[in-house]
Amino acid sequence: MPTDIGPPDYHTMLPPIIARNYGKWKYHEILQPGVLMHVAQGGDKLYSVRVGGARLVCTDRIREYCDIAEKFCDGYLRFTSRHNVEFLLDKKDNLEPLLQDLKQRGYPVGGTGHSITSIVHTQGWVHCHTPATDASGPVKAVMDELYDHFIAMKLPGKLRIALACCLNMCGAVHFSDISILGIHRLPPSLDNERVPKICEVPTTIAACPTLAIRPDPKTKGVQINEERCMYCGNCYTLCPALPLMDPEGDGISIWVGGKVSNARSGPAFSKLAIPFIPNHPPRWPEVVDAVKNIVECYAKGARKHERMGEWIGRIGWERFFEVTKIPFTDKHIDDFTLSYDTFRSTAQFKYTG
Ligand code: SF4
Ligand code: SF4
Repeated sequence: MPTDIGPPDYHTMLPPIIARNYGKWKYHEILQPGVLMHVAQGGDKLYSVRVGGARLVCTDRIREYCDIAEKFCDGYLRFTSRHNVEFLLDKKDNLEPLLQDLKQRGYPVGGTGHSITSIVHTQGWVHCHTPATDASGPVKAVMDELYDHFIAMKLPGKLRIALACCLNMCGAVHFSDISILGIHRLPPSLDNERVPKICEVPTTIAACPTLAIRPDPKTKGVQINEERCMYCGNCYTLCPALPLMDPEGDGISIWVGGKVSNARSGPAFSKLAIPFIPNHPPRWPEVVDAVKNIVECYAKGARKHERMGEWIGRIGWERFFEVTKIPFTDKHIDDFTLSYDTFRSTAQFKYTG
């Protein structure tokens, strides 16, 4: 078998209409939620129909996507960067039958324009060894509640939600409008019998962002200064003898106001809104309520095209906490390196009730 062959050349999988008009598109329109029309310079029209996906899907589901594409799109489809499926067709006559077929199968069509499209998320309890929460479970629970925002475009601006199940933040939680992030609240339980056998001590020490880990000459293992530990779990990533998962201590934090695009304002990191919500599988009701509340306050208060962070920037953080009724606590105040820039160094602020 040859190796290092790379992925298949995507040009070989382009629908003929895209291959013909590659780099020669004039404009596109959103015809209805989930349905776009792309018009080429020569007049060709391509229709793309976006369908929400669970991301974690079985082979049978992929085969079903392929059957739909064979039936209506000459076998062509693609996956978007947020795990939606897009059926690509050049025959307008096929558009309505495709939409009817998708409706009968119960597939949601949407995720375009000022909507809430699919949640970028991670592995959770399905496959990873470091999570503080699940991924697929909370994502299903949140999207069930926000389904109407997927199939419609009634928000002031785009609203991106992401979930990561630990502070490694795989995915997009550090720059999303609303981020759901798993956190721990207890230091690692240290097993110095195993540390010298299965861990490289210097790299484990170097993994700690707060310098809470020191070598322990007696055991050839490590000591942890629990006062300095903020439960990031990075040492456990390096050393399996430092587990810190805890069913009661672990849970979810909610972050807001991040964005990637340069439209109107520059990209921004998400910032802490809710420090902790316990894990309550299988439906995470408190997390669902918290996300829904933030979405509703944003929908009510933001101006057209304003993203979450831009809305908060305009009204100010004190007003954000006031309108969302989220309690502001000492946990919200940055106390890590370079935190100084996050403190208010002006007398400008708003009184809140
Ligand atoms: S965010 Fe953390 S727990 Fe989730 S998949 Fe990534 S490394 Fe694993
Ligand atoms: S959990 Fe994080 S802060 Fe705590 S000891 Fe490990 S690396 Fe350091």
